[in-house]
Amino acid sequence: MEQERKIVTAIPGPKSTALHTNRLKHVSAGVGAALPVYIERAHGAILQDVDGNQFIDLGSGIGVVTIGHTNDGVVKAVQEQVAKLTHTLFTVTPYEPYVRVAELLNAHTPGNFAKKSALFNSGAEAVENAVKFARKFTGRGEIAVFDHAYHGRTNLTMAMNFKAMPYNSGFGPFAPGVHHVPMSYPFRDAAGMTGPEAAARAITYMEKRVGAGNLAAVVIEPIQGEGGFIVPAPGFLKTLQDWCRANGIVMIADEVQSGIARTGKWFASDWEEGFEPDLVTIAKGIAGGMPISAVTGRAEIMDSSHAGGIGGTYGGNPVAAAAAVSVLEQIEAGGVLEAAHRIEKILVERLNAMKAKFPVIGDVRGRGAMIAIEFIENDGKLTPNAAAVEKVVKHCTSNGVLVLNAGTYGNVIRFLPPLAISDALLNEALDILEAGIANL
Ligand SMILES: *Cc1c(COP(=O)(O)O)cnc(C)c1O
Repeated sequence: MEQERKIVTAIPGPKSTALHTNRLKHVSAGVGAALPVYIERAHGAILQDVDGNQFIDLGSGIGVVTIGHTNDGVVKAVQEQVAKLTHTLFTVTPYEPYVRVAELLNAHTPGNFAKKSALFNSGAEAVENAVKFARKFTGRGEIAVFDHAYHGRTNLTMAMNFKAMPYNSGFGPFAPGVHHVPMSYPFRDAAGMTGPEAAARAITYMEKRVGAGNLAAVVIEPIQGEGGFIVPAPGFLKTLQDWCRANGIVMIADEVQSGIARTGKWFASDWEEGFEPDLVTIAKGIAGGMPISAVTGRAEIMDSSHAGGIGGTYGGNPVAAAAAVSVLEQIEAGGVLEAAHRIEKILVERLNAMKAKFPVIGDVRGRGAMIAIEFIENDGKLTPNAAAVEKVVKHCTSNGVLVLNAGTYGNVIRFLPPLAISDALLNEALDILEAGIANL
């Protein structure tokens, strides 16, 4: 597929519109559609719809096809595996690709200690299981999560989310034992607040409101995803970890969005000096779009469950596991992390130039190929400007560039391009973004 942007119809085109009419008849209204353009095929950083339009993808299906759409290695691994074995159930009769994924994750997650892994299907399922391990290991029930967090759509993970709309509203009651504590949000915290100061604020809350001795786990995204790529101030994560260790609390890093080369290191946790979470949850970027997730961490925690307490029918499916092995081995082979750095350089340079020109951009932040801009009103109070985001996203999509919004206030545009994107394609997409912002 030509790696080029091409718009040949209105967006959405006639074939997409017909398919969408049929969808509205047959698919639950609760399943939304940000852009009702029906995609037929994709490769690298280009999506092609049923009308022949080609979009530059700056979303990667929310950070999933990090390695690129229909990556050659992933396609080959899936094709070979699907003809050999599609299912046995690992807990009945095991197979090798599952073990190989565990071995690779144990080697590359943060922390120089003995590790083990367990595989699941989705990010939410990984988070649920990380909490299960922490509760079993500590014998405690309570968990702490952070403002602006997103952890999934199951009952427990809904309880862990910050935002009621659209994720939680009307779906309760939710799992008990979940406590929300203040995050470090440098753009909106008091000027000059350091990471350790922000951590002290969260720790005070946990000590007073929950009691350190009641906490099984602290769960945190080292860079928040849906929350708007909030990067905590330096020292925040490490200070929390030190407090967790002193109090026998399991530190869980939810790296479902930020992990697997996305930020230019294997895991976003690797950016914080001395930060070695006890457990890491992994999903989105791990298998080029095949559904598989993992919990990896300290062997003594991962071995705390009795046999049979952890699992599921499809967890670590052989075809998805083969795809994950391909992705992880490609990162090991080199070039993937470097691609994230190359993308960061272009994104940060160009977005900061736009910030200097357009006061509607309040903040440029993130790491690697996980970069966001936060939009504000020009009132000197950082008032969130979601209307601007809506207009810019619409301008981009109707011109063949797919971008995603994010943020508690809906005022963030996040960039999660496939790492296979070329400089030329990325710059072309940014030209269109810039025109959309200038149009405001
Ligand atoms: C997407 C996401 C999840 C949920 O993953 P699903 O596969 O959608 O269940 C959990 N945590 C974070 C940080 C995420 O970005």
